[in-house]
Amino acid sequence: MLDLLVRGGRVVTPSGVGRWDVGVKGERIVAVAEPGMLPSDGVRVIDASEKIVIPGGVEPHAHAAFRFVYPWAQQAGHRSAGPDEMSKACAFGGTTTLVDFANWRPGTQLIEAIDDRDKLFRRNSYIDYSFHTVLVGMGTEGATAEQAVPLPLSLIPQVKEVIGFTSVKVWTTNTTATRARQMTDFGHVYGIMHEVAAAGGVLAVHAEDEDIVMYMSRVLHAQGQTDTKYLPDAHPAISEDISFRRVIRLAEWTGAAIYLMHVSAKEGINAVAEARSRGQAVYAETLHHYATFPRSVYNTPEGPLYHTYPSLKDRDDNEALWQGLVDGRIDTVATDAILCSRALKLGGHSIEDTVGGNPAVEERLPITYTEGVVKRGMSLQRFVDVTSANAAKILGMYPRKGAIAPGSDADIVVLDPSATRRLKASELHGVDHSVWDGWDIHAWPSTTILRGKVIVEDGALLGDLADGKLIGDRCTSREVLRGH
Ligand SMILES: [Zn+2]
Repeated sequence: MLDLLVRGGRVVTPSGVGRWDVGVKGERIVAVAEPGMLPSDGVRVIDASEKIVIPGGVEPHAHAAFRFVYPWAQQAGHRSAGPDEMSKACAFGGTTTLVDFANWRPGTQLIEAIDDRDKLFRRNSYIDYSFHTVLVGMGTEGATAEQAVPLPLSLIPQVKEVIGFTSVKVWTTNTTATRARQMTDFGHVYGIMHEVAAAGGVLAVHAEDEDIVMYMSRVLHAQGQTDTKYLPDAHPAISEDISFRRVIRLAEWTGAAIYLMHVSAKEGINAVAEARSRGQAVYAETLHHYATFPRSVYNTPEGPLYHTYPSLKDRDDNEALWQGLVDGRIDTVATDAILCSRALKLGGHSIEDTVGGNPAVEERLPITYTEGVVKRGMSLQRFVDVTSANAAKILGMYPRKGAIAPGSDADIVVLDPSATRRLKASELHGVDHSVWDGWDIHAWPSTTILRGKVIVEDGALLGDLADGKLIGDRCTSREVLRGH
């Protein structure tokens, strides 16, 4: 006997799109069947006719309770939303898994970082979650003894024991001249890649060329061009081009799988595509934000509202990013989410202090559907790939997450393509603004189901903060994606 039946929808499964009924028992999907074939007596039925049934979104790059580094932001007491508010916005937007970051501190075990972060999320998230473990400042000037040595790399295999998969994140830049040291030098990236490869994991990289970013920042300072609108000059496409290729080359030498975060420029897409044509496990993420807005928006009075690091690029980069999502050169749409106030986003004015991150988790699926599926002919299969399945594959959660298939978690979203509406920031959750305020949106989730429990239905929150769980026993590895 089923517990739940999602009936009559256009269902996007790993093997095709069709009209099927989806049967749920407990927390799992147990059947995807011809319409009318599954027993419905005494079963809760969700009518999905005229709607699209997809796996719950997997958000691979979000920052809950982010600590702002700028003194002005700290002094003003600004805060960013914690897992509670962020996961609520995710649930309303059709995302049922988010991947946040657990920052390692010298002198501790990596698993302690995960445990600390889990304490913040436990009984405080409406949706499931996991973490990238973050290594900060390895091998750089001012590094502690532990950051300078060939590493606590022996710690990396421990990560797998706790969350079932190893994703480690590093930066190749400090991003701004005034920020505390976060970058890892290339020697250490090389070493870390060896360990990540041995663990069968993936190295997530914020890749920019430190020398170019710092040089350009100094040039801009010398010219008095430090306004927010010069951010693309401080973080130019050449930086993405050079750094991606260096990181990709290291990955080729070490055999590590890499996940390049927030691709912003066509040069980044090309570097990834070339590596993949050589058979490398190189995966690419972009932000719907990066694919939507050109750098010219920085010139508007609300310019800082649009910023996230590295930077917006040109209109042809926007289009290249959408095309990359449509044709498969880019694997995932993420947000780099930080849910904070409009006042905070507008508080920075220079290339050194403009706040990054975007409160875009709720808009992620609707914007990708509108701009990708409706306007650019993205198939529904690709839509699911870039919003859930690929992130699940790259981060070792597939097919538990990211698939409508028997045995998968019953994370199901019913998407209503008749829900064309004008997006209003005031209707979103956990934030007071949206860069897409006033945009026409062509689909919106009407029902979000997490492991068999309806957590959002027709605009009402039915979930509980205790519903979200750390994904601790992932099923397969990124190999599933290889060859795509
Ligand atoms: Zn980020």
